[in-house]
Amino acid sequence: MPGVIPRGPAGRSAPETTAIPAGTVRDTRGRPLRDLRISVTDRCNFRCTYCMPRELFGADHAFLPQSALLTFEEITRLARIAVAQGVRKIRLTGGEPLLRKQIESLVGMLADLRLPDGQAPEITLTTNGTLLARKARALAQAGLSRVTVSLDALDDALFERMSDSGVPVATILAGIEAAADAGLAPVKVNMVVRRGMNDAQILPMARHFRHTGHILRFIEYMDVGNTNGWRMEEVVTGAEIVRRIGAEFPLESVQAHYRGEVAARWAYTDGGGEIGLITSVSQPFCGDCTRLRLSPEGRLFTCLFAEQGHDMRGLLRMGADDHALAQRLAGVWRARSDRYSEIRGQAHREHKIEMSYIGG
Ligand code: SAM
Ligand code: SF4
Ligand code: SF4
Repeated sequence: MPGVIPRGPAGRSAPETTAIPAGTVRDTRGRPLRDLRISVTDRCNFRCTYCMPRELFGADHAFLPQSALLTFEEITRLARIAVAQGVRKIRLTGGEPLLRKQIESLVGMLADLRLPDGQAPEITLTTNGTLLARKARALAQAGLSRVTVSLDALDDALFERMSDSGVPVATILAGIEAAADAGLAPVKVNMVVRRGMNDAQILPMARHFRHTGHILRFIEYMDVGNTNGWRMEEVVTGAEIVRRIGAEFPLESVQAHYRGEVAARWAYTDGGGEIGLITSVSQPFCGDCTRLRLSPEGRLFTCLFAEQGHDMRGLLRMGADDHALAQRLAGVWRARSDRYSEIRGQAHREHKIEMSYIGG
């Protein structure tokens, strides 16, 4: 039943507001809105070949001007509305979210939000890790719950080639340790696996992160965006990864923490910790997909493979009240029917949104 929640202790950055309609909204497939992924910038200091190839994201690429980006106040206002409608987890992403100036202030503003039951939402962030050693403590102090760091290889030459960045692996490893030391643990480490590119790094990565408390997660290479020239033959399935690691370190499957958890969990039988498999290609999980994405300039996307977003910035900047924003957001979610990964073979998409714009 829609009810009304008053402004909570989160009021610090709230504009003058009317009461926000509250209650869980469901899409056309009965999926509730639970997660909000906020892309805070379309810029990145890496040029990962599968995400922002330099040929297409070179010196002449037109990134969004600062004035086009949602301000932290605008982001927080939309997040508050989403939280009233069922969102429990907020993930900051990008581009590279740590490039956005004073990102820790946004974390603080989001950490002040309260769910209808009075609890704080979980605030997480996905980063390439280059600036993490410098920022981890401030992020933790601002209220970040945990962090996910992307790392595709331990071999320096291969890592530099894949990220097209000149950044050594040691910088990312230092970021991971700094995050754990700052209390952002367990740190999740995401490795996108691309056959013939970095699949020989699966075992070295597994060996490195066993017994560290960090959770290594393998991501099947996806056909996101229009620029990475994706081919099915480059996908190494989660099942193959489990087989390859299991041959050296026996693994057993572990129960999901909750329904809709993105990564399938496997634990080393010798107590070395656990790994995760994100099998978006071989075993799609659209049926449990509860994620809404907000782009840097305020468009809502209901699927990673969407071609179109729904503008919220226009409404925000023409002075719409919270009620109108909430109606719009709920309307976008209610109309949602996406399940791209389940129908990948049949779905023809001309202009998918880029991963570097909308985040993972
Ligand atoms: N820059 C940050 C980072 O790299 O962690 C956050 C944004 S990045 C787009 C989010 C995640 O998407 C990263 O873990 C990245 O490896 C993953 N990703 C990007 N392109 C991908 C693809 N084609 N298939 C699978 N994962 C991809
Ligand atoms: Fe940047 Fe992340 Fe994309 Fe790599 S995956 S280019 S780090 S946004
Ligand atoms: Fe969710 Fe779209 Fe991915 Fe399916 S393809 S899991 S609907 S984001």
